[in-house]
Amino acid sequence: MSNVAVEVNGRSYSWPKKPVVGVCVDGSQPGYIEDAIKAGVAPFFERMLVDGTSKIADCVIPSFTNPNNISIVTGRPPVVHGICGNFFYDQTTDSEVMMNDPDLLRADTIFKAFEGHGAKVCVITAKDKLRRLLGKGLSFGEGLSIGFSAEKANEVTLSEHGIENVLDLVGMPLPDVYSAELSEFIFAAGVKIMERDRPDIMYLSTTDYIQHKHAPGTPVANDFYQMMDGYLSQLDAMGCTIVVTADHGMNAKHDENGQPDVIYLQTLLDDWLGEGNTRVILPITDPYVVHHGALGSYATVYLGDNIDQNALIEKLAGYDGILMALDRKAGCEKFELPEDRVGDIIIISEQHKALGTSSDRHDLSGLKEPLRSHGGVTEQQVPLLMNCKSDISADRKLRNFDIYDIALNHSI
Ligand code: ZN
Ligand code: ZN
Repeated sequence: MSNVAVEVNGRSYSWPKKPVVGVCVDGSQPGYIEDAIKAGVAPFFERMLVDGTSKIADCVIPSFTNPNNISIVTGRPPVVHGICGNFFYDQTTDSEVMMNDPDLLRADTIFKAFEGHGAKVCVITAKDKLRRLLGKGLSFGEGLSIGFSAEKANEVTLSEHGIENVLDLVGMPLPDVYSAELSEFIFAAGVKIMERDRPDIMYLSTTDYIQHKHAPGTPVANDFYQMMDGYLSQLDAMGCTIVVTADHGMNAKHDENGQPDVIYLQTLLDDWLGEGNTRVILPITDPYVVHHGALGSYATVYLGDNIDQNALIEKLAGYDGILMALDRKAGCEKFELPEDRVGDIIIISEQHKALGTSSDRHDLSGLKEPLRSHGGVTEQQVPLLMNCKSDISADRKLRNFDIYDIALNHSI
């Protein structure tokens, strides 16, 4: 198998010479890693920066978790794979549909392609909502691929996840879904499975619970990066190629009093155009709202029949705190999104503004710290690090979904 190049979604990947570990650090705005290094708690990250490869890449817009994770594992943007948010409005059935069903994924993953050529794959994610998408098409069972979430690590079976008794293997209790340990469990499991099985391709994808609450350089953030640093250095010692990126960045979105700084779009549009003429969709919304209250910097709006779209776009684009408003065609072209899962208008707010629907539809009771969130173009820049040098041309515009290309085709 050693000379096989694997083709998937129009890209080609060389066979791994040693195990490749792709890491998606959820919400890792540039600055977190650098500040942890400055604090002296991240010596392995420092070595990657100094002796390896250190670049800045662009993530996919909307800068949310699912579209970016799926882009990373397919190597292509949402226009190809179809996942452009945590949920979308299905006009044919007039319903809002969660986008965690593997049937909605329109492309094969890099993992499935490699497995098809005999590779052993291991995918570990924080929340179960992503696991089924990331594991789509893989074969799980004794000696086959492995795929599970830290959230449901107590429920794994050989037939469904390719592994059993993960809690015993890792030696940690089941972590709380809102905790730093949820992410730590992923790395601890990754190290144990690398030791035991030495899979050819591994993907570790964390949750941004910490980044939503703690800015770069703060003690809790530094602790979190110190934790990752320790596990990554163990994977490095086992001879893995490690490539690290983020699904998106993270910015403060609150006023000077620490209150969320929000444009409530549905309220605004009802005010301008009358109730029932528009439907605002916030694709950040998911069942886990404690860390962001479903407030991000990206929204899409469906319009009723009698709305003057161009006039509305002009009015929105000029509204204080809105960075851009684009019609479906222009927005989908610019951000490489699937037109059938995006509304008539795409709206992106400024760096420190969030977008909501109406204040009564956001439960902010779980927000104990001033709001930090993502979704817009101001959270598009993410780190791209590798533990060895690469031959990437200096002028290449990198995307976070290039990590397996970088690791497999460009590591030296
Ligand atoms: Zn995320
Ligand atoms: Zn988030």
